Amino acid sequence: MKVLIVGGVAGGATAAARLRRLDEHAEIIMFERGEYISFANCGLPYYIGGEITDKADLTVQTPEGFYDRFRVDIRTQNEVISIDPVAKVVDVKDLKTGEVYNESYDKLILAPGAAPVRPKFEGADLDRVFTLRNIPDTYRIKDFIDEQKPRRALVVGGGYIGIEMAENLHRAGLEVTVVEFLDHVIAPLDFDMAADVHNHIRQKGVRLMLETAVTGIYEEGSDLRVTLRRKDAGADAKSNGRAENNGTVSDSSEEIRTDMVILSVGVYPENALAVQAGLAMNARGAIITNEHQQTSNPDIYAVGDVTEIVDYITKDKGYIPLAGPANKQARVAADHIYGIPSAYKGTQGTGILRVFDLTVATVGLTEARIKQMNIDYERSYVWASSHASYYPGATNMTIKLLYKKEDGRILGAQIVGYDGVDKRIDVLATAIRANMTVYDLTELELAYAPPYSSAKDPVNMVGYVAENTLKGRIKFFHWDQVNDLPRDGSVTLLDIRAEENFKNGSIEGFINIPEEALRDNLHRLDPSKPVYVMCQIGLKGYAACRMLSQRGYDCYNLAGGYRLWSSIYRASSYKDSRPATNPTGNTTNTSNSPLDLDAASAVASVRLNTCGMQCPGPIMKVSDTLAGAKEGDIIEVKSSDPAFGADIEAWCRRTGNTFLGLSSEKGIITALIKKGCGEACIPEAAGTNKNIIVFSGDLDKAIASFIIANASAAMGRKVSMSFL
Ligand code: FAD
Repeated sequence: MKVLIVGGVAGGATAAARLRRLDEHAEIIMFERGEYISFANCGLPYYIGGEITDKADLTVQTPEGFYDRFRVDIRTQNEVISIDPVAKVVDVKDLKTGEVYNESYDKLILAPGAAPVRPKFEGADLDRVFTLRNIPDTYRIKDFIDEQKPRRALVVGGGYIGIEMAENLHRAGLEVTVVEFLDHVIAPLDFDMAADVHNHIRQKGVRLMLETAVTGIYEEGSDLRVTLRRKDAGADAKSNGRAENNGTVSDSSEEIRTDMVILSVGVYPENALAVQAGLAMNARGAIITNEHQQTSNPDIYAVGDVTEIVDYITKDKGYIPLAGPANKQARVAADHIYGIPSAYKGTQGTGILRVFDLTVATVGLTEARIKQMNIDYERSYVWASSHASYYPGATNMTIKLLYKKEDGRILGAQIVGYDGVDKRIDVLATAIRANMTVYDLTELELAYAPPYSSAKDPVNMVGYVAENTLKGRIKFFHWDQVNDLPRDGSVTLLDIRAEENFKNGSIEGFINIPEEALRDNLHRLDPSKPVYVMCQIGLKGYAACRMLSQRGYDCYNLAGGYRLWSSIYRASSYKDSRPATNPTGNTTNTSNSPLDLDAASAVASVRLNTCGMQCPGPIMKVSDTLAGAKEGDIIEVKSSDPAFGADIEAWCRRTGNTFLGLSSEKGIITALIKKGCGEACIPEAAGTNKNIIVFSGDLDKAIASFIIANASAAMGRKVSMSFL
């Protein structure tokens, strides 16, 4: 058996190795157009950013090493230029000598991959406009940075590679702007789940321009002038709410200057050989194969980024270029050539990406795609701790689960968080592969000890929420329905968070009755009107809704709570803004750029660690600490509560203290506050002091009074309590 393989990286090298392990006597020749085989495409951005420092680490295998292990005839810098499928011969050009020769085959495997798209606008071919696919591309970019010392970089396209490049260019010390045509980055995420990613990218100091298209790149002296077309509404309108979203979308032009450009706007299948050989292809130009990876010519197999895939969930045909599927298809092709009837059963699109400190992971269908397909679905959100919250170092993640209404079958999942995102997405990917339902998720027995998880793992939790939803135990309303709720008094909009959270920011039209005081204030809720409940993350809202619905109210809980809603709406306020300068001339951090905490914290007089505490705990701790501090003292506060960042800024404004800025790392927020504000700020009128008279001897009422009192005290008011 003589097998030729075109392409020597993920698909090609895997097929060659598997074939050799199966058949010691086969003649295997692997052609690779480039100098390297089996290199680490996925690691290339990290070499540019300096995290991978040794060039040798980028090559998983050398041709010599591969030959020694597998006795495969490896011909690098040899390009297969045509196929004669009738004679079963390929023509090959030796790129070192220019010589063209041919080679016959019994079986041929095509693994030529996909090439980066170069858009058609003017300037896309300029020297300082790069794409990234292979090791030579990587060195070109790295050498340019090292030798030309560019100050600014523009990344066109906010997909996986674009975002990885943005992070790594930022790491390499460049001022980075990302331009994305869609209303959100990372297409396999939905808009709502991308909001945290947008905020995080901007918080790290990368400028993000959504709904923006590059129209041209022009050399002007030492600068590249990049012309842009921006949508003036759209993402902004979506996140600003109904007032701004009047349906009008107009375009405007803009330009920015940069020193280099990375184009990462997608890839297309390298199908020239398939076209020439007359193999069947789909409209996108990907080679069509059967489940054994055979093309329309049964002696020619195709694997990896050049092929069409079957979507595992919908069974539709599609195109998802990823390393995992390429490797698996290669194994299937090698098996089949050897006579083992292995089959590739489809691609789920399981993907994961590091975005600075965040981890973003997806599997299956997005909500946008599910809507296009008219599937009757439900969605659930969970905000869960990576491990037991009492054990140090726990951080939070948001899980969005999409499933069929009819039977609870899981259609897709998206997770954004810090630790433990990878294992939860893998569990959910496995569940999808096993055709599980949300009911099955509630039954999964997953490993637990405090440093690793909770007795109810986040995957169980999202299963519980979905099960409760499908069984009608709870009714939800969603962030994108909030603006459409009537504000004419026909429904009750109820914010059950603590008073100081409410004061720091709520949604228009919501009244505040803290959860603990709810049972005592039922007289304020008209039982004839539907009640829309909002808490911080959706959990207390669930309990409140259960209580209210058992008392006869028609009650709805805001899925994901105020946290999810505000992460989406907050995105617009960060939009493109640069660090603002306050009247005293100092840079005031608006969470859009990282604070130089090293410099600032050198003068911190007190350091507070409130990690593990839930709101209002951290604010109260800050309040207590500031009470004992001197005017001008600087306090550094760490918190793992995601609401803390927004709350502390508002709290400082209201209480006449100075918010110096915040940064976040791996889910831990660090804020710097100065006691007092000199002339730079005017405290909001905090209202007068409070007298609370408690007439009841009930424990829960007394506790509720203390909570209200604590919240007021935390806001700088003097509180007196009398128990009668
Ligand atoms: P490739 O690995 O691209 O190999 C194709 C090879 O064929 C190329 O080296 C090419 O030179 C050669 N070739 C083409 N035509 C010919 C010819 N006519 N003759 C001889 N040789 C030829 N995927 C993930 O799942 N996770 C990630 O984190 C991830 N990160 C990535 C980061 C970057 C920067 C890039 C570029 C890709 C990343 N991918 C990632 C995608 C992943 O690398 C691909 O899905 C995978 O490599 C596809 O394998 P393949 O064998 O089809 O093609």
